[in-house]
Amino acid sequence: MNLQKLVRKNIREMKPYSSARNEFKGEASVYLDANENPLNSPYNRYPDPLQMKLKEKIAGQKGVDPSRIFLGNGSDEPIDLVFRVFCEPGVDNVVAIDPTYGMYKVCADINNVEYRKVLLNKDYTLDSSHLLDAVDENTKLIFLCSPNNPSGNLLDKDEVRKIITTFNGIVVLDEAYIDFAVNESWLPELDKYLNLIVLQTFSKAWGLAAIRLGMAFASPEIISFFNKVKYPYNINQLTQEYVLNELDRQETKNEWVDYIIQQRDFLEKELADIELVEQIIPSDANFILIKVSDPVEIYNYLVQNGIIVRNRHLISLCEGCLRITIGTKEENEKLIAALRSK
Ligand code: PMP
Repeated sequence: MNLQKLVRKNIREMKPYSSARNEFKGEASVYLDANENPLNSPYNRYPDPLQMKLKEKIAGQKGVDPSRIFLGNGSDEPIDLVFRVFCEPGVDNVVAIDPTYGMYKVCADINNVEYRKVLLNKDYTLDSSHLLDAVDENTKLIFLCSPNNPSGNLLDKDEVRKIITTFNGIVVLDEAYIDFAVNESWLPELDKYLNLIVLQTFSKAWGLAAIRLGMAFASPEIISFFNKVKYPYNINQLTQEYVLNELDRQETKNEWVDYIIQQRDFLEKELADIELVEQIIPSDANFILIKVSDPVEIYNYLVQNGIIVRNRHLISLCEGCLRITIGTKEENEKLIAALRSK
C-alpha cells in the first residue's frame, strides 16, 4: 500500500497552517507571539496544538507510541478527517457495514463521497468477502465498528483481518465500545498494519461524553496527515487538563465497566422473561438491541412513562428493534417494571 498515493493530491501538496505555538515550542518568560491577552492566566493562552502531555500519558496506558495517536473533538472528528484526507469529493467512494453508526454516512454526505452499504449477515456477523465485493479502484476507506452500534456484537477477528490484509486502502475500525467486550482491542496489532486506523473514545467507559475527547490510533504517517488538516487548537485546555487527571482513575473506570456489564447481564435475563420481547441480541457493548412485537407502540409507551430508549426499527436488519443503553440499577429496574406492566 502506498499511503502517499491514497491521500488526496491537494492535501498531500498543501502547506498546513503554522501557529505561534507550533513555531516556538521552548520555554520563555515573555510571550508576545500569539496575540493573546496577557491577563487572565492561565486560560488567556492558546493550548498545546498537539496535546503532547496528554498523548504521552495515554500512550503509556495504551502501550502505543505518542506518534501513533491523534486526539479529536470526540471520535466524530477523526471520522470526518478520514474523508477530508483520503476521499476526493465526487470521485472516490467508501464501503461500510450496514447497519452501523450513523455518522460515517453523514460525513460521507457532507464531503460528497459515495457511501456503499454492505449488509451484515442476518445475525449481524461479518462476511469479509461480501464486503470486499463492493470495493472498486476508487474505494479509499472501509468502515468497521466492533462492537458494532446498534447490534452490540464484536466482529469476528479473522474476518476483520481478511479485510485489513486484502484491501488496498484504509480500514477504519471503530472501537468506541471495546471496554465492554471480552475480546481484546486491535491496538496491540497496530504496528503490523499500515492501513489500519483504530478509533476509541472517552465518551463511553470513561464516562466523559460531555468533555468531547476521541482518539485515533494509526501509523505516524497517517497521524501526520490528520494533524495537517485539523483545526490548529482542536482540543481545548480545559479538556486536556481534565482528562490528564481523569486518566489516574483507571481503577474507577474499570469498576464502572464491571458494574455496567453486571447490569447488562441483569437486563438480558429480565428481558428474556418479558412476553413482548421477541429477541435479545447478545451484547458486547453498553447497550442491548431487542426485537419487540410493536416497536413504535412500545417506544411511545415508554416515553409516556418518562423512559427514553432508541427506536431503531427503520434501520437495516433492525425491523422491530429498540436499542436500550444500560443505565444504573434503579433505572434498569424502572425499565423492566414498565415493560412488565405493559
Ligand atoms: N463511534 C460509535 C460507534 C459511536 O456509537 C459513537 C457515539 N454514539 C461515536 C463513535 C462517537 O463518539 P464520540 O463521543 O467520541 O464522538
